[in-house]
Amino acid sequence: MIKRIGIFGSTGSIGKQALEVIKHNPDKFSVEILTANSNYEELIEQAIVHDPNIVVIGDDTYYEKVKQALSGTDVKVFAGEKALEEVAAMDCYDMMLAAIVGFAGLKPTLKAIQSKKAIALANKETLVVAGDIVMDLAVQNQVPVIPVDSEHSAIFQCLVGETRNKIEKIYLTASGGPFLGRKTNFLVNVKREHALQHPNWQMGAKISVDSATLMNKGLEMIEAKWLFNLQPDQIEVLVHPQSAIHSMVQFEDGSLKAQLGVADMRLPIQYALAFPHRIPNEYPRFSFRKFNTFTFEEPDLRTFRNLALSIEALEKGGNLPCVMNAANEIAVYAFLKNKIGFLEMTDIIEAVMGKVPFIEKPSLDDYLNSDAEARTLAADIMSL
Ligand code: NAD
Ligand code: MG
Repeated sequence: MIKRIGIFGSTGSIGKQALEVIKHNPDKFSVEILTANSNYEELIEQAIVHDPNIVVIGDDTYYEKVKQALSGTDVKVFAGEKALEEVAAMDCYDMMLAAIVGFAGLKPTLKAIQSKKAIALANKETLVVAGDIVMDLAVQNQVPVIPVDSEHSAIFQCLVGETRNKIEKIYLTASGGPFLGRKTNFLVNVKREHALQHPNWQMGAKISVDSATLMNKGLEMIEAKWLFNLQPDQIEVLVHPQSAIHSMVQFEDGSLKAQLGVADMRLPIQYALAFPHRIPNEYPRFSFRKFNTFTFEEPDLRTFRNLALSIEALEKGGNLPCVMNAANEIAVYAFLKNKIGFLEMTDIIEAVMGKVPFIEKPSLDDYLNSDAEARTLAADIMSL
């Protein structure tokens, strides 16, 4: 049977790679929904090539342009933030690929879960913001949440066949990003262009900056907590610059399982779309000749303080991860616009985390309010 896929965030790095996977497997997947925020030209092009049922342009000022360009087709066009949620609840698809970046992905994903859609989750911020609510809702609706993030896909793959066995701990591997081994005196001068050069992966701008600050690994620790129901002390970050081991699980007998492969996001995307099956592909294979040395080191929490802040948020829980995420989004976009320096991102996040009142057991509204409050505070701090 063909699985009907809704790609939310189809014009992004993950979205485009997902379209490639689907194009190679027309007997297994069809594209039903494509969405973009403002890149209407790419959305139109994708719609013409992939012939979905529906497209949504998040920024409704582009509605007419998209509508006009697709007037000769039977693709339905919707626009606006609310439309993302409405379309997420529609019957025309089976699985959502949640590939919107940031907090904006939360509401459509919640709607999809409520509508009993399987979720292939790239958007880690969804779990950082409201992981308890998302995972509870998924259990209630008997909806699988299958990770796309490469580390979490690795852990998920290691856990296949282990349902009765407890996890002792997981090792989340980290490349270390483009500034591995650098100290504060170097980072203070880092600009946008440097931060966007990741050694092993080609990704969207926000996650590239998060990888450079190690915030990405912090967000991934929190993502892992919710996906695999772990305590903070069961999650350890291990810097592994070759990015060959995508992560590892240690069981109660001390045995370790690791998942390895080429650093190519098409692989975890394909795995999540096809789960529980593996499907053949022609992508490059891993070479042990090329990678003949694997190395491991501790992350440098004193230099990359975003990771230390994330561990604090992970341990304290409540609305703190949500607040941290919101402050980080604002700080990253300011850095990308050359408005603040690399290290100032951390200062802003830390200040906001200290200011928004702590809520131990937040409701969804509490999360939404904490997010808004943190964004306002972060913007205020930057304008001082
Ligand atoms: P990207 O910036 O390349 O693409 C983001 C997509 O989201 C685009 O289609 C954009 O139109 C859409 N979008 C952005 N803001 C939106 C808004 N406010 N409303 C609606 N749509 C909006 O990002 P990406 O690198 O593809 O990452 C997507 C998600 O996947 C992120 O959460 C990221 O952390 C996660 N992820 C990405 C990679 C990777 O290799 N790129 C790896 C692991 C996890
Ligand atoms: Mg990752």
